[in-house]
Amino acid sequence: MSLLKIVHYPEKVLLEVGKPLMEDEFNEDLKQLVEDMFETMYDAGGVGLAAPQVAVSKRLFVMDCSGGEDETQKFTLINPEIIHIEGEQYGDEGCLSFPGIYTKVKREMRTVVRFQNLKGETQEMDFEDLPARCVLHETDHCDGIVFLDKMSPLKRELSKRKIKKLQKTGKWDL
Ligand SMILES: [Zn+2]
Repeated sequence: MSLLKIVHYPEKVLLEVGKPLMEDEFNEDLKQLVEDMFETMYDAGGVGLAAPQVAVSKRLFVMDCSGGEDETQKFTLINPEIIHIEGEQYGDEGCLSFPGIYTKVKREMRTVVRFQNLKGETQEMDFEDLPARCVLHETDHCDGIVFLDKMSPLKRELSKRKIKKLQKTGKWDL
């Protein structure tokens, strides 16, 4: 296993639509990538990490809202597709590609997502609260959408200003 480099906004790969994984890509390389993504996510203290964040322009992400405490909360979602959304939640959100930026973002309270697991089997799962927020945030990454795009115009402006400051101090490398 090895730690991968997490890229920061506005790295181009974060703003591109990821490529779907094809049948012949469900192999040992994919397993290795997923293992490395989990290790990288835990090391960085995150609860979700999408492939574009480690400069791989593909539609997959890993998540664990228990932070490594509960094995049943560990999920790998490949070719995720949101098939249902419902309700609303307004809460703090961060992103490993935006170090130091935490802000309130409106998301749906519940989502059903269809995806493939590492064996290539199609599954559907129902998520609520923080795990739903995580699924929506990470699926956005697969579509080249970052959480800055989901903020209110005021919060987006404030965040952009903060990013500029952090870049000047060298705390936000590219
Ligand atoms: Zn993110």
